[in-house]
Amino acid sequence: MSSGATAGVRTYKNYVNGEWVDGASGELFPVYDPSTEEVIAQVAAAGAADVDRAVKAARAAFDSGPWATTSAQDRGRILFKLAEKIRQNSAQLAEIECRNTGKPIVEAEYDIADVATCFEYYGGLATKVLGCVNPVPANALSFTLREPVGVAGQIIPWNYPLLMAAWKLAPALAAGCTCILKPAEQTPLTALEFANWFAEVGLPPGVVNIINGLGEIAGAAIVAHPGVDKIAFTGSAVVGKLIVKSAADTLKRVTLELGGKSPNIFFTDADWEASIDGALFGVFINQGEVCSAGSRILVEKKIYSKFVEAMTEKAKRIKLGAPLERETKMGPLVSKEQYDRVSSYLELGKKEAKVAIGGGRPKQFGKGYYVEPTIFYDVDNSARIAREEIFGPVASVIPFDDEADAIRIANDTPYGLAAAVWTRDIYKAFRVVKALRAGIVWVNHMQPTYVEAPWGGYKQSGFGRELGPWGLEEYLETKQVFVNLDETPIGWY
Ligand code: NAP
Ligand code: MG
Repeated sequence: MSSGATAGVRTYKNYVNGEWVDGASGELFPVYDPSTEEVIAQVAAAGAADVDRAVKAARAAFDSGPWATTSAQDRGRILFKLAEKIRQNSAQLAEIECRNTGKPIVEAEYDIADVATCFEYYGGLATKVLGCVNPVPANALSFTLREPVGVAGQIIPWNYPLLMAAWKLAPALAAGCTCILKPAEQTPLTALEFANWFAEVGLPPGVVNIINGLGEIAGAAIVAHPGVDKIAFTGSAVVGKLIVKSAADTLKRVTLELGGKSPNIFFTDADWEASIDGALFGVFINQGEVCSAGSRILVEKKIYSKFVEAMTEKAKRIKLGAPLERETKMGPLVSKEQYDRVSSYLELGKKEAKVAIGGGRPKQFGKGYYVEPTIFYDVDNSARIAREEIFGPVASVIPFDDEADAIRIANDTPYGLAAAVWTRDIYKAFRVVKALRAGIVWVNHMQPTYVEAPWGGYKQSGFGRELGPWGLEEYLETKQVFVNLDETPIGWY
């Protein structure tokens, strides 16, 4: 591929101004298969000079390139073509995603299909950006124009690499912005493969640039650069706070999606089988490396013991395995760093609560960053395992007395990304929905996410919304145009 191939381990460059370019320093960083711990690619590490080059390209493309006059219809068509490329190459992309993240291949296939759907959705939305007429009292016409915010810096995590890229790129391009995307250092490969099609589908040079490298260097340089108008970030709250501070110097627009410690609440009257499934699915899908993971499982005391028992029995059936095997339901964690981090929480959890299942490394794997699906129970909501985002297959089960107690515990967290409630009582369901402070509340389900509906957090889970028309809105400015219809002079002086 044009990204540069060598025998064995492939080397990838940065994609700037429509070309594959080496990093100014010439340094490369390794990318791993977390199931084998082997290096599968080498990627050019970008520094401030590379970021500056990318920003200049994005700036020029926005200010004076052909993109500036590309119609909404044509932007939409380009997005549809990107979706088509994704669909045509979905098997290959899913395999790369699977190898690079360690997620099960079946899940990677869903992710890649969602990527295509995201580009299709925003391809359609590009022509539905409407201004309005404002009913001002003057003899005048006041109306609004919606215009792209400019150059967008987009920094994404490693848990859903190409999907997170799609959530950022698709609305930005629909709006008419230009982009500098920085994938997570662990998982840049699918975004880089994707860039191979940019020119072919008609994206002019400089409209999308992909910069690889470390967050502290390449990411920080994007956030600090005065040529960038907006930062869209998904990742940890710690880095989110750094970004807000740095972006303050140039008063960039910032949107943040920062994960959480989401409650999954089960009442006695909920469907039993669906509940046990939903509790496990909510926290263990994608190895628990999910920003909206239902990592606090709140269970009504009347069913609590039986619930922990049933979850434990069913969790024994979760098939850990090689990510490319189709029966695999849980792969390794993404990196050694994440494995160490999650392992330290497993040790902490053994001191803070009781272990129903798991708590360590599965015996059957000689290699790979695997951890056992782990259920801690009798967890107090003040414990660190109930307060801190672990981002691995680790559940904390917490008992509650009644509806008011469930709501109190659920909201007792600095985060507010997601929540779920399981009950057959419609009154109770909606009372709880209204009381929960979270950007999404599922009723009798957890995790389905669709491009048509908004996504984002309350409290320290961030601000701004992705997906749906809300996601497009974040890439638009609003300009008021006032047209005087009264020909008499103002006559003030
Ligand atoms: P992270 O450190 O927040 O990284 C997310 C992205 O930000 C990566 O591209 C990262 O680059 C970049 N970054 C890091 N420091 C930066 C800085 N100073 N300025 C600008 N960009 C910077 O998250 P992580 O290391 O991937 O994972 C750590 C924890 O974050 C996880 O355990 C989890 O709790 C949370 N997390 C949340 C989500 C979510 O969806 N909300 C996703 C992933 C992780 P690098 O590639 O160099 O890291
Ligand atoms: Mg990192």
